Amino acid sequence: MKATFHGGVHPAHSSKRPTQSLAIRDFVSDTVQIVMNMNIGAPSAPCVQKGDHVKLGQVIGEPVGFLGIPVHASVSGEVVSVEPLPYLSEAPAMCVTIRNDFKDEWVELHPLGNVETVDPALIIPAIKNAGICGMGGASFPTHVKLSIKPEQKCDYILANGAECETHLTADHRLMLENSTRIVDGLRAVMRAVGCPQGVIGIEDNKPDAIEAMEKACQGREGVRVQVLKTKYPQGGEKQLIEAITGRQVPTGGLPIGCGCIVVNVGTCAAIADALIDGKPLVERITTVTGAVRNPANLRLRIGTNVDDIIGECGGYSVEPGKIFFGGAMTGLCLPHANLPIAKSTNGIVVMTREQAKTDEEDPCIRCGKCGEVCPIGLKPLKIKLAADADNIEAAKKLHVMDCTLCGSCSFICPARRHLTAAFKVAKQKIAAQAKKGGSGK
Ligand code: SF4
Ligand code: SF4
Repeated sequence: MKATFHGGVHPAHSSKRPTQSLAIRDFVSDTVQIVMNMNIGAPSAPCVQKGDHVKLGQVIGEPVGFLGIPVHASVSGEVVSVEPLPYLSEAPAMCVTIRNDFKDEWVELHPLGNVETVDPALIIPAIKNAGICGMGGASFPTHVKLSIKPEQKCDYILANGAECETHLTADHRLMLENSTRIVDGLRAVMRAVGCPQGVIGIEDNKPDAIEAMEKACQGREGVRVQVLKTKYPQGGEKQLIEAITGRQVPTGGLPIGCGCIVVNVGTCAAIADALIDGKPLVERITTVTGAVRNPANLRLRIGTNVDDIIGECGGYSVEPGKIFFGGAMTGLCLPHANLPIAKSTNGIVVMTREQAKTDEEDPCIRCGKCGEVCPIGLKPLKIKLAADADNIEAAKKLHVMDCTLCGSCSFICPARRHLTAAFKVAKQKIAAQAKKGGSGK
């Protein structure tokens, strides 16, 4: 039986076609620029200096605070600068730039061995030491997600292989080409938190990945594949949990509040690499597609420059309009291409000028479609009215903070109302208000 969730939309599958059958290939550039604030939480503190020689996998940024994780050199070579540089954050971000010597000289690694026999108490510290955060785009530190309280019980670990975003096929290719590592990582997480069930959720538009993952699950304790209906945003945490378990994440709560933890399949593979090989997170698979001459799924070192990546893909096929990290529904628009990729960069999507054009809003015709597709059950039309009137209190009462900014309402709206953009601003205002000491909830 195919599982699904309430609401959702059906973006065209055609955006995935240029890359879905392209095997992952490596690209390594001559310089990497590694930012210190790649994960949710305080930026890491650089612990190398200009002129230092670093080995591949060496810690170059120490974790800071509760949510901190280390940052590692993704190439071996010479540190050419340690300085704040313009990034996606408002303020410049501290970056370590390394000139690659192409020797790939690894730091001494300390593998823990087989995920089925390793002491479970060692797994979460190893995940932290490997600098692993959510690789599906969220960048939340994985060791924190897995550090559940003694009174909490985890019934399901859900490995998210839905990849419902438009354009992206990186997880699809990973499931085809590295299926055993994903199951290894899932099993490690299950053992770390004492969870009996692991379920890999995959949409039914990836039959080859379903077959590969089912094969990889054979003979492994407590793991299975759940086929999901292809519908956006099936890969959202709440939607994945609803589809597979029938449970609802409590309003304002976390998945563990309903006995679930969701981990992206790429994160699972990184966890397996950390335990089995002792390797920290220094590379990831990224789909590069849209208006580039040779779309690709590339294994990239963290910190590779987008301009270099576009060059590796043959350059732009036409004059670019906008470039996104991630897909068209939730992607982050880049100010320019001279920026490095981070641990969570699952896609680089280049839109043409025509595709990037923002349509003028028409008046709302009160068709109600936005409410029908909202997977959270919100009233986007009413929230938009409140947001347009800058009535933040009303937006709060309409639960705008529960909005996941999935974009389904904007996608379906026949009047092309800028719903999601308005909700993002409203959420930012409420968060800023809460920071100043007002009630953010
Ligand atoms: S989908 Fe658009 S036009 Fe229809 S009710 Fe919602 S905002 Fe109005
Ligand atoms: S963007 Fe927010 S309001 Fe719109 S459909 Fe998604 S969750 Fe609902």
